[in-house]
Amino acid sequence: MTGDGPGRSHGRLTISASMRPRSLMDEPPRVRGAWRAKVITLFPEAFPGTLGLSLTGRALELGLWALETIDLRPFGEGRHRNVDDTPAGGGAGMVLRADILDRAIAAAAEGTPPDRAAWPVIALSPRGRPFDQAMARRLAAGAGVTLICGRFEGIDQRVLDHHAIEEVSLGDFVLTGGEIAAQALIDATVRLIPRVLGNQASTEEESFSAGLLEFPQYTKPAVWNGRAIPEVLLSGHHARIADWRRDMAERLTKERRPDLWRAYCAARDRDPVEDREL
Ligand code: SAH
Repeated sequence: MTGDGPGRSHGRLTISASMRPRSLMDEPPRVRGAWRAKVITLFPEAFPGTLGLSLTGRALELGLWALETIDLRPFGEGRHRNVDDTPAGGGAGMVLRADILDRAIAAAAEGTPPDRAAWPVIALSPRGRPFDQAMARRLAAGAGVTLICGRFEGIDQRVLDHHAIEEVSLGDFVLTGGEIAAQALIDATVRLIPRVLGNQASTEEESFSAGLLEFPQYTKPAVWNGRAIPEVLLSGHHARIADWRRDMAERLTKERRPDLWRAYCAARDRDPVEDREL
């Protein structure tokens, strides 16, 4: 364990008065030991992107987490700083070169703990392990992460093997580059860091936290277009509301995500085909 253990997240806010305007990125975090993301990309201008907005953006400004981009281009070769070449064996597109990416990975590794459990190094890839809430929780519990955004046909396999880089996928579809995937992964992780969301309870109740999809939500007006909010939610009866919500979450999960439903039942010794009156 490094000094960046779990306790860090309640970190001390060190106030640093500064005369010059503060950029959101590339500055040391103001909370000691704050979670950090380093992103190797050909498009650093894509960051912080949506991460600079709303709760994640405010948390970034407060220094509850930090973001650093590492531009791959300056590590390229020749006058044009080429970073890619044609695929060995032929075929369409270009492949990011192992030697060039290796230099960027070395630069990103500076100042990070060598322990991969504390600081995973991840390449975004459609071939990777599917990203999920459990992975977001694991990442949030560490000190930070280094993310490698692919482009074109992807990355030379040797650099992934050499550095034992984990591959992580956002889902079964193909994006043009890893930047959007990196932002999604960072967003899901950062919101689990204490104090990033105003109300921490909301990460405990929402979809996937208990292995279920979330129950339906409603707000004012009480009747809209002839549709009323389910009566129980207006009853003020907390136990009945909790029951209703759990029942709805179970019903939705059973209907929409049989895979999650089976796992949920298996963990509770329940029969997934039982027809309970929900
Ligand atoms: N030829 C590759 C796709 C390359 S897409 C293949 O068929 O597997 C270019 C880059 O976009 C990838 O290197 C990766 O970094 C990113 N990317 C595309 N789809 C993604 C997904 N579903 N999840 C995460 N990253 C993805």
